[in-house]
Amino acid sequence: MDDLDFEDYLLNVPYPKPDVYGSLSMPVYNAAAYEFKSASDMEAAFCGKTTDHTYSRISNPTVHYFEERVKQITGAFNVTALNSGMAAVSNVFMSIAYNGANIVTSPHLFGNTYSFFANTLRTFGVEVRFCDLTSEKEILENIDENTCGIFLEIITNPQMEVADLSVISELAHEKNIPLIADTTLVSFSVFKAGSFGIDVEVVSSTKYISGGATSIGGLIVDYATFDWTKNKSLNELAKVHKNYAFNYKLRKEIHRNFGAYMNPGTAHLQTIGLETLHLRYERQSRTCLELAKRLQKLKSIESVNYPGLPGNPFYEVSCRQFGENPGAMLTFGLASKDACFQFLDNLKMIRRATNLFDNKSLAIHPASTIYGNFSQVQREAMDISDKTIRLSVGLESADSLFEDIRQALELH
Ligand SMILES: *Cc1c(COP(=O)(O)O)cnc(C)c1O
Repeated sequence: MDDLDFEDYLLNVPYPKPDVYGSLSMPVYNAAAYEFKSASDMEAAFCGKTTDHTYSRISNPTVHYFEERVKQITGAFNVTALNSGMAAVSNVFMSIAYNGANIVTSPHLFGNTYSFFANTLRTFGVEVRFCDLTSEKEILENIDENTCGIFLEIITNPQMEVADLSVISELAHEKNIPLIADTTLVSFSVFKAGSFGIDVEVVSSTKYISGGATSIGGLIVDYATFDWTKNKSLNELAKVHKNYAFNYKLRKEIHRNFGAYMNPGTAHLQTIGLETLHLRYERQSRTCLELAKRLQKLKSIESVNYPGLPGNPFYEVSCRQFGENPGAMLTFGLASKDACFQFLDNLKMIRRATNLFDNKSLAIHPASTIYGNFSQVQREAMDISDKTIRLSVGLESADSLFEDIRQALELH
């Protein structure tokens, strides 16, 4: 894999069966169900003896092709595509959590993931323990025999904290706990989750992968590296399916019952997005670093937060894990909430919108929007300040972006 030029690789994954019309890209199979030649073929497909598709809530050729491409890029054992990043997060925990289980994680989480943990899972008897994942001591104090997973975001959004994955994965595996990571902020064309001891990776493919913000999607990337006999809810299955027990439970039960499989139109768009993923990521993350450096020099900006900046507290661990350009999102602090609102209103080119890694640059005030429904106490626990602007850097030039930011700051 490392020997191949990445773009060549991204562009040239053949599809499983030749298309009757020789279509150059995988066709979109907008089909709900599939027909069989005989009752016994049907029995074989429904009972899992063949891999034929039966019904598109369970599998679909176009979605399967997208999953296969991600599988080849990541080197994973299996990939499941869902209809949002949140569906990916919730399907993982519905597969491994149980009444009485706990999850150890950080309060620095994407807003809906936090709410899923703090509200939704809690009502099912799953306790979520929020702690400082950059402290080995705190992790050790929080885990016990009912910890079904340690969960983290590789760069937290929007606090931009970076935990040391080698420390956490070693500790997790010593204690027989799987490490589950949301890797949305760094493209898997540069960040190889499997080589950092991550057992299950979740990605919001809405972001870098969709390319141009065309669609909502999520991925569960399973490396089959964890011995699931150590997990109380998968223990019985693992006696038969070993390290593949998680995937078995997910594909045979959870994802079918929750019904959040990706639709084929989205898979088509995101397969095309995949082809330019690495190019876009490289360009956007390089521009982001350049901008971060230039923004540090502006007087009205009180602080710039980007782990790729020398001097950032996570600079070294970030370089080790993500290379020189850790993604295309940065945050900066202004004097007040008012100053943030005025800045946003003054922007001419950068769009006022949520979402990350669109081709266009996007700016948002997280405290009043994404975190607007949380209480002040909760926002403080999550380190969400109302003086922070989040910027997602697109494909525009660093000069034009800098100029837009500079003029928007000067106007007040
Ligand atoms: C956007 C995002 C999600 C949720 O993904 P959706 O596709 O919006 O459901 C989860 N985690 C992170 C880090 C995100 O940025």
